[in-house]
Amino acid sequence: MSTFDYDIGIIGGGAAGLTVASGAAQLGAKTLLVEKEQALGGDCLHFGCVPSKTLIKSAHVYHQMKHAAHYGLPSIAIPPVDFKAVSDRIRAVIATIQKHDSQERFCGLGVQVEFGEAQFTDEHTIRMGSKVFTAKNWVIATGSSPIAPPIPGLEATSYLTNREIFYLDQLPATMIILGAGPIGIEMAQAFNRLGSNITVIDRADQILGKEDKEMADEAMAVLTSEGVEFQLNATIESVAQKGSRKEVTLKDHKGETVHLTADALLVAMGRAPNIDDLNLDQIGVGTQPTGIVVDPRMRTTQKHIYAAGDVNGGYQFTHAAGYEGSIVISNAIFHLPRKADYTFLPWCTYTDPELASIGMNERMAQQAGIETTIWTEPFESNDRSLAEGQTAGRIKLILDKREKPLGVQILGLHAGELIGEWVAILNGKVKLSTLAAAVHPYPTIGEISKRVTGALFAPKIFSEKMQKGLKFFFNLKGRACTLPENENE
Ligand SMILES: Cc1cc2nc3c(=O)[nH]c(=O)nc-3n(C[C@H](O)[C@H](O)[C@H](O)COP(=O)(O)OP(=O)(O)OC[C@H]3O[C@@H](n4cnc5c(N)ncnc54)[C@H](O)[C@@H]3O)c2cc1C
Repeated sequence: MSTFDYDIGIIGGGAAGLTVASGAAQLGAKTLLVEKEQALGGDCLHFGCVPSKTLIKSAHVYHQMKHAAHYGLPSIAIPPVDFKAVSDRIRAVIATIQKHDSQERFCGLGVQVEFGEAQFTDEHTIRMGSKVFTAKNWVIATGSSPIAPPIPGLEATSYLTNREIFYLDQLPATMIILGAGPIGIEMAQAFNRLGSNITVIDRADQILGKEDKEMADEAMAVLTSEGVEFQLNATIESVAQKGSRKEVTLKDHKGETVHLTADALLVAMGRAPNIDDLNLDQIGVGTQPTGIVVDPRMRTTQKHIYAAGDVNGGYQFTHAAGYEGSIVISNAIFHLPRKADYTFLPWCTYTDPELASIGMNERMAQQAGIETTIWTEPFESNDRSLAEGQTAGRIKLILDKREKPLGVQILGLHAGELIGEWVAILNGKVKLSTLAAAVHPYPTIGEISKRVTGALFAPKIFSEKMQKGLKFFFNLKGRACTLPENENE
């Protein structure tokens, strides 16, 4: 008989922690959930996915209003954005979702929720102020925080991170964004569309460094056409507070010194795991700079302590955190040795057009020494995209030499939704011929997925060999019309 207070204790009430808590409690485990903020939901709800996507929607609508003429509608004079109203809408959306992530709802599921900052005192015990709790298994799901990079002058400069950016009282007229990853790029486009002048700085030679370069470059071209400025291949030398403004000094791609000033500075240069105050070294839980060391079953170096979500330094997405939470439940509650498999984990950057990815992209396949064939289909050939007036981007299907799919990248309208079909196809090991033959409704953006597989099969179906065979067996008479030679070119 266990002498511990709980079967399972979870530290951190974000995507990973909430998944474990609700699953474990509903399976009958006595469950404790500890959260240091005064509300559940974690970064995704309060400072991440939800506020960013809500902001992006407001920016999108404003952008459409300004471009009414593009749709054959009268141009109208649009007043400037009152950012307070935008941020009030963000707060309202969060408040609605918060009800789903409330202490009451979790208590209803059987979870004891405690608010306070947890610290391990031994490998089965945590302390929160004067309260002490023991559990047979623990799950560390404490998430990540924005990195404060060691840039000279940054510490003495007031700057923004994802914790402040959604709650500003007014729109900054100008903003410099350090970092061209998903957070920096989504914010660059959204704030630019709302009326800020934006410059993005990154040391890499492309934005969204993990993505297919061609697609990232195409996304960057869209942002550039909308007015976002970029300093890529740049080295940030220092940052300084100049009165109410911020100054960034950098060496640009030609090695020339450039001074930029702006009303606001957003730092989006990566994330660090929230592990500093947990006493992990004292309880034998191994860590590395990216996060807590885990095996594929999400077990730390203490087998009864698991780490899921951003804190283990793996894929930093809400759905990855939820997935890892489900791996924890399998192992800790069902005692099944289930391992995480990220082969076909999808993700999306919510620029307009969106950039979604699943599996390997071209560069990853090259790095793995895999021979590939690439099939693409542009959005400008999709009838619905034309009707929508949004034709930027393409779908790219990466196959190995035996035509087994390795991955899919989509830059285009609703790419994040379109990738869902590929989630089912790739994880379900559905044959590409099934997708090519499946009827999709017309006119939909989703037809692009069928079209790209159609492009793969068309040369085989409409080959000369096939024509000859059909002619032989069924006496087909061949072409009824042929263009004059010069028009045929
Ligand atoms: C601006 C932005 C936009 C994003 N957009 C997307 C997106 O569109 N899609 C997507 O999939 N992902 C997105 N992400 C990433 C996503 O938010 C994270 O991957 C996700 O929140 C990770 O979940 P988690 O449970 O690991 O951590 P979190 O959600 O951060 O939860 C960790 C919790 O632990 C608590 N905690 C920390 N230390 C302690 C302690 N000692 N004691 C008690 N509690 C503690 C924290 O307060 C927090 O509530 C975005 C992130 C940012 C910053």
